[in-house]
Amino acid sequence: MNSVGRPTRPETAGGEANDYIHPTLTGARGLLQDEALIFELGGWDKTGVDLVDAELDASDLGDLVRTDPIGLPGLSEPEAMRHYVRLSQKNHAIDLALYPLGSCTMKHNPRLNEKAARMPGFSDIHPLQPVSTVQGALQLMDRLAHWLKTLTGMPAVALTPKAGAHGELCGLLAIRAAHRAAGHGLQSEHPRNTVLTPTSAHGTNPATAAFVGYKVEEIAQTADGRVDLADLEKKLGPHVAAIMVTNPNTCGLFEREVVEIARLTHEAGAYFYCDGANFNAIVGRVRPGDLGVDAMHINLHKTFSTPHGGGGPGAGPVVLSEALARFAPTPWIVHDENGFDLAERAEGPAAEAFGRMCAFHGQMGMFVRAYAYMLSHGADGLRQVAEDAVLNANYLKAVLSAEMSPAFPEGPCMHEALFDDAWLDGTGVTTLDFAKAMIDEGFHPMTMYFPLVVHGAMLIEPTETESKAELDRFADALLKLARAAKAGDVERFKGAPYHAPLRRLDETLAARKPRLRWTPTDPAKIAAE
Ligand SMILES: *Cc1c(COP(=O)(O)O)cnc(C)c1O
Repeated sequence: MNSVGRPTRPETAGGEANDYIHPTLTGARGLLQDEALIFELGGWDKTGVDLVDAELDASDLGDLVRTDPIGLPGLSEPEAMRHYVRLSQKNHAIDLALYPLGSCTMKHNPRLNEKAARMPGFSDIHPLQPVSTVQGALQLMDRLAHWLKTLTGMPAVALTPKAGAHGELCGLLAIRAAHRAAGHGLQSEHPRNTVLTPTSAHGTNPATAAFVGYKVEEIAQTADGRVDLADLEKKLGPHVAAIMVTNPNTCGLFEREVVEIARLTHEAGAYFYCDGANFNAIVGRVRPGDLGVDAMHINLHKTFSTPHGGGGPGAGPVVLSEALARFAPTPWIVHDENGFDLAERAEGPAAEAFGRMCAFHGQMGMFVRAYAYMLSHGADGLRQVAEDAVLNANYLKAVLSAEMSPAFPEGPCMHEALFDDAWLDGTGVTTLDFAKAMIDEGFHPMTMYFPLVVHGAMLIEPTETESKAELDRFADALLKLARAAKAGDVERFKGAPYHAPLRRLDETLAARKPRLRWTPTDPAKIAAE
């Protein structure tokens, strides 16, 4: 049972039967089997490979020479294979079904990208190799940079940030450096020490601003889900370093006044950081540089289809305006008649670089995947991506509105459809219950309770990679669930998920007190017991 009294384990033999589960004798449920940790499965007697003892010169290691066994699990090849395949089946994946997480842009990862990323010239190189031996890789980074600058209409790009949040950090550090150069650093007499973010902002925006040393103030939102210009104007002033605005915003709406937002911001001497996580909705259609943006991260793992989730590698290059370009972090890719080179130090053209974002040159594998995606779509194809993503979201918004209440019913949405929980009033079912019931129907839940400005928010982003048939299958499941909730079938929701490997987990406890270390059972203790 978790802290709110919900079962965390699936019903098994000996457990209570219910309408949804017919208990099995082993506890397995069809293909879903209980899976032990690999250390529990393993044993030295069945190790799949035998390695000869390495002849190491111990003197180099001194006291650091290992004296105990290394403690790796010993498994035969089929056991290792089955373990990982079974684990992979316990979770939802973009290769299994639609993954409607709003704000996350979970789209199909074309296998062509994977093939390109595995080419030895990209995958087998080392960041410390002499640049003369990695000219192709540098050229790819340069071409990727060119596409990113062209698509955004911005003059410069820093490739190294490793995710969107890291890109936000990069953008704000460039902004901080620019203010410092102008005499308004955080320690100066007239510091620009405040960052403004809308109430609907992604949590990483205020978190990043605070991390960089800024105070954070909220900008109010209008009834139609956009930045309140009057409130922005009131809050702007000589103490403001930057605004951070997402466009399209996290309510799935285009900020129609974005040019005016940029004008007011610049007039107040502040910079416009645009959170570009939702670039998928406008790529090829709108160039943020034309809107007055000074810095924007691009989540390659969202818009440009590189895989993400589970903490896998992302990449968050940051495009910069003319005013910020010279503060971009090193390394800079430079090019002359001898080919490509990396400017690694803050000198020469990079003299004002604010520093580095990471040890080496960014996520090479993600650069290759994103570039392969760009080339395979072409400029017109990328434009089509944005159009289809928006069309799909509006289709779902229209179909689901039959039973669910859209948070902003007026007008079309961009690439994601946002619903509130008003339609669940009086049913006894919450947004969380509804999301858990979706798991039983074979779908990953949508983003829940975000953005915070919408009560019980359900944010659905289908992306352009779903067919109409799949959208219909998804919508049909949600409409059936919605009708079940309204018809009083509360148990279906309160106990859900019934069919997942685990039931309702105490996610807070898991996050606060994660058990990350496996402690081997002491054989002496077992014998004593
Ligand atoms: C995903 C996202 C981020 C953070 O990007 P990561 O790559 O996950 O660090 C920031 N803002 C918005 C609106 C996002 O959707």
